[in-house]
This record gives sequence, structure tokens and C-alpha cells, in this order.
Amino acid sequence: MEPIHIAIDGPAGAGKSTIAKGLAQALNIIHLDTGAMYRAVTHQALQLGLDLSDPEAYGFIETLDFTFKEGELFLNQVNVETSIRNQTTTQNVSLVASHKSVRDALVKRQQAIALNQSLVMDGRDIGTVVLPKAPFKFFLTADPKTRALRRQQELLKKGESADLNFLIEDIKRRDDLDSNRLLNPLKKAPDALEIDTAQYSIIELIQYLTQIVKEG
Ligand code: C5P
Repeated sequence: MEPIHIAIDGPAGAGKSTIAKGLAQALNIIHLDTGAMYRAVTHQALQLGLDLSDPEAYGFIETLDFTFKEGELFLNQVNVETSIRNQTTTQNVSLVASHKSVRDALVKRQQAIALNQSLVMDGRDIGTVVLPKAPFKFFLTADPKTRALRRQQELLKKGESADLNFLIEDIKRRDDLDSNRLLNPLKKAPDALEIDTAQYSIIELIQYLTQIVKEG
């Protein structure tokens, strides 16, 4: 049977990862968070003390092993879910993701993982570049304040505090970089279904998307 591919794109904080995870669980298929891969490369480059603005600095990606287990990213067999979500990595990831060398290497890995298995993949360019033939494409949006409030809740749960205005500005800055870069910008695929996630609860959205996929 042909693998089923589900592409979920949208800006930061639109609920992509949570919804993708719930949808993958409901369908009993894997969830691949491509943002985590860009974050892991950024985190690694920072650890190595590389010049992030140098497109030639990313040859090390070829040596990295990316494995997803129950939606969590293991880099070279180490679970990096916490370290890749720190503030320094978040502030630098859009710069790293703008390099052709980085995108080419990661898109190739993502397509290889999707080759023989059904999955839900979320990111910015999944419906347009990584899985352009996916039969199910969703583009999730929400206004910047709603997205910043969600991010603030996530941080509070981890015992971290963050100023709402700072988070709104940071989200707008990343939106701007991700939407206006030359390569694979954040863009709705023409055949994607756009959903404003501020209008519904996460549970409702997971049920709605699951129903769409199950009904084919
Ligand atoms: O989804 P998340 O917010 O964790 O993604 C972090 C960053 O990785 C995004 O702001 C974007 O710059 C980059 N990204 C990308 N293409 C993807 C997924 C993420 O450029 N498919």
C-alpha cells in the first residue's frame, strides 16, 4: 500500500506540532517535526562555535544521525528535545534555516524518511517543497498574540517566565524572516486547506483533521 503523507505548515505557535502529534497518534503513524531538525543543526553549530552566517559552515550535517522516537528528536542517539528549544537556539534558527546548504541537506533527509512510511510532517515548506504530492495538506495560522500566549504557557509549564510583548515581537521577527527568505519561504501550498487555529480547541482540531484524513 502507498504510504499516506500528511503535510502541516504554518508560522511559529500556530499549533502545528501539537496537532501533528495528536493526528499521528490518532492514525497510528509517525510524526516528524522538521523544525526540530533545523533547531538541532543550529544548536550543534552553536556548540561547535561556528560562524552561523557562513553557508560553508554546515558540512557537519552529513555526519549527523536524526532519529524520531514517539515524536521526539534524537541527534546521534541523544534526546535533544529540551536543549534545542532554548532561547539562543530559537533566536538563531531562522538565520541557519535560510542557507541553501542547510535546506538541501535537511530536505533530502526528510524525503528519505518519508519514502517508505506513512507520516505526519510539520514545518514551513512541507506542502510546497518536501512533500509536494502529499494528498493531505493543512496550513495552520493564528494571530501573533494568540501564538505568543501559547508560547508563554509552554514556557510557564517548564518553569520559565517570558514577557508577552517580547514573545509577540520575537514571533513577528521569525515570521518575517521565514516568509521573506528567498529559499523555500513559509507559504501556503495552493492545494492546502487553511485553518485559523485561534477559533478552535486543540482537541477539536485534531478530531477535525483526523476525520478529513479518514474520509479520504
Ligand atoms: O517549528 P519551529 O518553530 O520549531 O521551527 C523553528 C525554525 O526552523 C522556524 O522558525 C524556521 O526558521 C525553520 N524551519 C524551516 N523549515 C521547516 C521547519 C522549520 O525553515 N520546514
